[in-house]
Amino acid sequence: MNNPNVRDYIRTIADFPHEGIMFRDVTTLFADARGFRMAIDQLLHPYAGVRIDKVVGLEARGFILGGAVAHQMSTGFVPVRKKGKLPGPVISEAYQLEYGEAVMEIHDDALKAGERVLIVDDLLATGGTAEAGIALCRRLGAEVIGCAFVIDLPELGGRARLEAMGMPVHTLCAFD
Ligand code: IMP
Repeated sequence: MNNPNVRDYIRTIADFPHEGIMFRDVTTLFADARGFRMAIDQLLHPYAGVRIDKVVGLEARGFILGGAVAHQMSTGFVPVRKKGKLPGPVISEAYQLEYGEAVMEIHDDALKAGERVLIVDDLLATGGTAEAGIALCRRLGAEVIGCAFVIDLPELGGRARLEAMGMPVHTLCAFD
């Protein structure tokens, strides 16, 4: 590939996990040294000179990206996980899925009041997962200064939903 961009490293798997879904698979991006570095560098780019105290990663691919971003920013990393996975005392936030409801959790002592947080995940679709993550951080008194994703699916409205809340959104590429 001459001058590849992040999007070129993302593989699409048709009919996963259900028929009719085009799954955007970032494992091929993560597996490529040049692609992975490019993605982390581009995720960091808007935050040069911005004070960030903690990076919060959303399960599961947000852990891989968020961990690398936190290392590069020299901040701590905090996981937001699906219900029942975190070992200590948690607070929980339910949100709507296409069919039914999901619950995300954060340790109740993971963020301090006033800490400035960047939320990181691989993909923004409807924005429900990110909105639950924002709510959890805010309930601990933290200030979410932005959300960063590798992929935007603009037709699903997540960016518009988060921006309508006044949340700055940073994405590296988009798919229809
Ligand atoms: P949302 O809550 O509708 O914005 O969905 C975003 C969440 O679903 C993120 O945590 C993504 O990791 C996951 N997700 C949804 N679609 C895909 C996909 O095509 N590839 C990878 N992750 C996806």
